[in-house]
Amino acid sequence: ARSRTSRSAAARARPSGLPTLSSPDKLLFPDAGITKQDVWDYYAAISEYLLPEIAGRPLSVIRCPGGIGQDCFFQKHLTAGLERVSTVRLKEESGRNAHYLVVEDEAGLMELVQFNTIEFHPWGAHAADPDVADRVVFDLDPGEGVPFDEIKRAAADIRKLLERLELESFLRASGGKGLHVVVPLNPGCDWDLTKRFARGFAEALAQSQPDRFLATATKSKRSKRIFIDYLRNGRGATAVASYSLRGRPDAPVAMPLAWRELSKLPAANAFGLADVPARLRRRRKDPWEGIDRIRQNLARWAKGN
Ligand code: ATP
Ligand code: MN
Ligand code: MN
Repeated sequence: ARSRTSRSAAARARPSGLPTLSSPDKLLFPDAGITKQDVWDYYAAISEYLLPEIAGRPLSVIRCPGGIGQDCFFQKHLTAGLERVSTVRLKEESGRNAHYLVVEDEAGLMELVQFNTIEFHPWGAHAADPDVADRVVFDLDPGEGVPFDEIKRAAADIRKLLERLELESFLRASGGKGLHVVVPLNPGCDWDLTKRFARGFAEALAQSQPDRFLATATKSKRSKRIFIDYLRNGRGATAVASYSLRGRPDAPVAMPLAWRELSKLPAANAFGLADVPARLRRRRKDPWEGIDRIRQNLARWAKGN
């Protein structure tokens, strides 16, 4: 049987060349003086790193046609004018079908940049297999008054607890305030099990150390504690892609890191548009090297739960 992606790809002939950049001088980060050309140059420079993180996955983007802070919007569906992106027809929560964005190559990526995309947020699943999760994301969100060192300690603790379940995990600085701990699943799991695992893990941690953690989204209760946002793990949920810019002051970048880099990490937004391309060229090794080859999943956890 032909996959849903190949059917939609067949229906849409995509131009293969890069689009033309318009309004290069438009300020997308007005306070930092960062233009649309700068954003374009950033994504052109790092596309070989970003593409493996987003290609073939349903993708949401944050577009800021008027620059950050001005009516940015989250977009998950195909809209008029996008010719170089692919799509996948997926059932919405409402029960209706919709065409979700899928980037397959540099042309699609750069077309979204031409459409003023700042941030890229993929699903933890592939368009060809949207019901199979291959990444669990624990999104650590600091409440008011939580020092960054506490977020770092939380990430290291979560890594250790996952190791006890024989699950290897990977670290990302979100480019915002917190850290992400990412668990690859191979073979993947259905969303129901993935969600139960993420929620069970977060709730157990919050119960055992209620002074440090909470697992409910109630903002008012977050003061001085870290919210383990397990809600990134469900069909249709997204997390920011590694190497995506963030629509926040000074254009920070969501950066994948090696665990040994955690202790000296000064902040979740320590990396930015201006320094990441050179840093990637200097880097000897991808800190997430081999993430998709690790054979691990939630079957062992499911047996005990
Ligand atoms: P921070 O470290 O500052 O928390 P973050 O990327 O983890 O940065 P969150 O607010 O915790 O930001 O959100 C986690 C993820 O939830 C985002 O990366 C995004 O993929 C998704 N998300 C955020 N806002 C929306 C939205 N309006 N609609 C759908 N998904 C969203
Ligand atoms: Mn977060
Ligand atoms: Mn969150």
